Amino acid sequence: MEAPILNPQPIIIARPDHNISRANISPNALKVLYRLREAGYRACLVGGGVRDLLLGREPKDFDIATDARPEQIYRLFRNCRLIGRRFRLAHVQFDQEIIEVATFRGHGDDSEEGDGSTVERAADGRILSDNVYGGIEDDAWRRDFTINALYYDITNFAVLDYVGGIDDLKAGLIRLIGDPVERYHEDPVRLLRAVRFAAKLGLRIDPATEAPLHRLGQLLEKIPPARLFDEILKLFLGGSAIQTFELLRHYRLFGRLFPATERCLSHQQQHYPKTLLMRTLTGTDARLAEGKPVNPAFLLAALLWEPVREQTERLQASGLDEVDALQTAADLVIQAQIRHTSLPRRYSLPMREIWEMQQRLTITTGKRPLRLLTHPRFRAGYDFLLLRGDADQPAAKLAEWWTRFMAMDEKDRLQAVLPSPKSKKGKSRRRRKPRSAGPSDSPNPPPPES
Ligand code: ATP
Ligand code: MG
Repeated sequence: MEAPILNPQPIIIARPDHNISRANISPNALKVLYRLREAGYRACLVGGGVRDLLLGREPKDFDIATDARPEQIYRLFRNCRLIGRRFRLAHVQFDQEIIEVATFRGHGDDSEEGDGSTVERAADGRILSDNVYGGIEDDAWRRDFTINALYYDITNFAVLDYVGGIDDLKAGLIRLIGDPVERYHEDPVRLLRAVRFAAKLGLRIDPATEAPLHRLGQLLEKIPPARLFDEILKLFLGGSAIQTFELLRHYRLFGRLFPATERCLSHQQQHYPKTLLMRTLTGTDARLAEGKPVNPAFLLAALLWEPVREQTERLQASGLDEVDALQTAADLVIQAQIRHTSLPRRYSLPMREIWEMQQRLTITTGKRPLRLLTHPRFRAGYDFLLLRGDADQPAAKLAEWWTRFMAMDEKDRLQAVLPSPKSKKGKSRRRRKPRSAGPSDSPNPPPPES
């Protein structure tokens, strides 16, 4: 980015004129700020912490910016790790909390800054490494949005604004610092960040920052799948998953993250796939609002369910049995997805199990339903079935059966699934299909195992 013509004198909002109180800052963040200051460094709270406090919201985490170099930060804290190559920074680890400490970034046009390194760029303008250090006024201009570039200075508890962030915050505007197209090219993840903050904070995106969102989505192809996966979790686990999803689709960015799902959503006549997804996202937001944990695997299972379901149907039509069809479909969908976003195994394994559970839940006779109740993924599978039931009659019926079954005591459960003595006679004459999981609306569930 060209060095902007900037006023190195910030707007200073003195302590009495803003609402940030140390009582609302994490004690660990304060410890880090004080320690840096005592060691003679400049230290400020920056980013989401300042933004959210000014908005009267509880920050998700606290980020600190300082003129201390990463190695100097490292020497100051016992509980410190240096991370990141593209963007080197320090993590100071406390029990439950990590405080991220970044050294002020410079422009990199004047490469003598710092250790002589430059901002390394790809031919398309993407920043590959950004480890050129500078002063706080340079750092402000390297940040993404104006509302993310406000500093809370621990020396005098004032808020410093180099980029007009305070005015934008008051106006409820998300605005990229500098030339938006250039800034999106530098780091295309900013496309997703714009959407994330707009959805989460209920702010408007300034027109010049908004316009490129519609047409620059393809830049996301350059982002490593692992980084996109991290971003997906932030997008959908930030408490505003519904708005985020709607905005991502509006800007045609959702399809860049989940192309197979987007294809299903856009070609489907019925509302079915969208209903399941919307219900899952609503549920996720509700759980987060109540302070309950959410399972990312469940969310991913819902995000990719429709592609898996359609693929399973196609494979069954070509002759595979139901179980093999689902396994193959899951493989295919996962393989296609990880070209766009990674899917760490700790999430993809339980996600598959939730899908498999949809078949196992169709068996409502014999001993298998009893065994299934003790399966570690039963609850997730059942919850998923409930959500499917909102737009899928057979699934709804099946979910009702399980709801009743779970509410029974052991004796009633046995009666519900095991044949009465009369029906036993017929059993020996019927042939049992191996592994038949039956479609979810199967009127004739397989006979019980003995
Ligand atoms: P939250 O933590 O609530 O999600 P945040 O704004 O603090 O939001 P972080 O990802 O924690 O976001 O980043 C901290 C700060 O670092 C941001 O506020 C911004 O100033 C800067 N930053 C983060 N990512 C980028 C980026 N891709 N480009 C430029 N600056 C960034
Ligand atoms: Mg943050």
